Amino acid sequence: MTEHDPHILQGFATRAIHAGQAFDPTTGAVTPPVYLTSTFVQRAIGDLRGGYEYARGGNPTRDALQEQLASLESGARAFSFASGLAAEDALLRAVLSPGDHVLMGNDVYGGTHRLVRRIFGRWQVGLTTVELTDLVATRAALESLRPRVLWLETPSNPLMKITDITALAELAHGVGALVVVDNTFATPYLQQPLVLGADVVVHSTTKYLGGHSDVLGGAVVTNDLELAEQVQFHQFAAGAVSGPMDAWLTTRGIKTLAVRMDRHSANAHAIAEAVVGHAAVARVYYPGLPEHPGHELAVRQMRGFGGMLSLELAGGAAAARAFAEGLRVFSLAESLGGVESLVNYPSEMTHASVRGTELEVSDAIIRLSVGIEDVDDLLADVRQSLAAL
Ligand SMILES: *Cc1c(COP(=O)(O)O)cnc(C)c1O
Repeated sequence: MTEHDPHILQGFATRAIHAGQAFDPTTGAVTPPVYLTSTFVQRAIGDLRGGYEYARGGNPTRDALQEQLASLESGARAFSFASGLAAEDALLRAVLSPGDHVLMGNDVYGGTHRLVRRIFGRWQVGLTTVELTDLVATRAALESLRPRVLWLETPSNPLMKITDITALAELAHGVGALVVVDNTFATPYLQQPLVLGADVVVHSTTKYLGGHSDVLGGAVVTNDLELAEQVQFHQFAAGAVSGPMDAWLTTRGIKTLAVRMDRHSANAHAIAEAVVGHAAVARVYYPGLPEHPGHELAVRQMRGFGGMLSLELAGGAAAARAFAEGLRVFSLAESLGGVESLVNYPSEMTHASVRGTELEVSDAIIRLSVGIEDVDDLLADVRQSLAAL
C-alpha cells in the first residue's frame, strides 16, 4: 500500500475488508476474481498490461493479498509465500551472508530454529538463542555476537512469554541488527510490531490470518523499501510464491480477522480463568491472567491476549496425554488459529523437532488453540476431560 492510499486513514476492520479489494472494473463483481493464470498476454513485445508478465513475478490475486497484508501490518510492502517457512527462508536469504549470526528467542517456533540451524548453518550462518524477557542477558548477547538479525516471537510458543518489542528493537538497533518479529500468534489485529519499532514482520498466514485451517501461506511485511526490493527479488528468483487460489483463500479469511480475534481471545480468557486453581492443573500460561509474568507488558503492547493458552498438568506426561486425548470438541492436531478448537501435545507434536535442544518443551505441557465455538461447549469439554484424570 502506498502512502496515498485512502485506506491508511481507516480503521483495522475496514481495511481488512477493503484494502486491495476494489471491485472488478470489467463486471462490477464485488469480490475481485481469482486470476488462475500463469502468464499474461502482451500488447506488443514488452508492453505489459498492468505490469503483469508471468505469475511467479506477479499475479493480481497475490497482489490483492499483499496490499491487504501491508495495510493491516502498517507496512509499506508485503510479500506472500507458499508457507510461513518459505517466507522466513526468503527473508533470511535476502539479509544474511556467510559469517553472519542470528540471535533468536529461546522459545521461537521450532521450524524457524531448524531452518536457521540446519539449512543456514551449512552456509556458515551462526545461531544463538537467548531468554528475550531478560533484557540484560539479551543486551550482553547482542554486544558480544553483533548479530545481523534479532528474531523474536511474542506471545511465544508454547509458554506464551511476552517480550518487549520496543525495548528489544532499541537494543538491537544499537548494534545494527535487523529486528524481525514473527507476529503469527498475535496477528496485526492484536499487535503492531512495525509501529513498536521492529523492521520486519513475518507470518505463517496458515494460522489466524487464513483462519479456517484450509490453506498454507506465509508473508513478509516491512517499511524498509530497500529490504523490500531484496525480498521481492528472492520471491521472484527463488519462486516460493503463493498460488492464486491460496492467496484468495487467505484474503477471504483475513476479512473476518477482527471479529474472529475478539472471539478467540474471549473464549481463551474464559478457559484460562476456569482452569486456574484446578487440582489437576499445575500452571496456566495465558497472558490475560494477572499472575502471568508478561501480563502488564501484554496490556501495553497488545490490544487483546489472543486465543492460545497452555496448561501444565499436575500429573505430568501421563495426565497431559490423557487430557489431550479425552477432549471431544477440541481436535487433537498440530497447527493453530483456525475457527475450530485444537489441542496439541508439543513435546511429541509441534516441538518434536527441537527435542534435545534448548527449545525442548516439558512433556507435562498441553497447548490449546481455542476456536470460536460457543464458549460453554468448550468449557464443558475441558472440564470433563480434566475430571476424568
Ligand atoms: C506455523 C508457524 C510457522 C511456520 O509456518 P508454516 O506456514 O507452517 O510454514 C512459523 N511461525 C509460527 C509462530 C508458526 O506458528
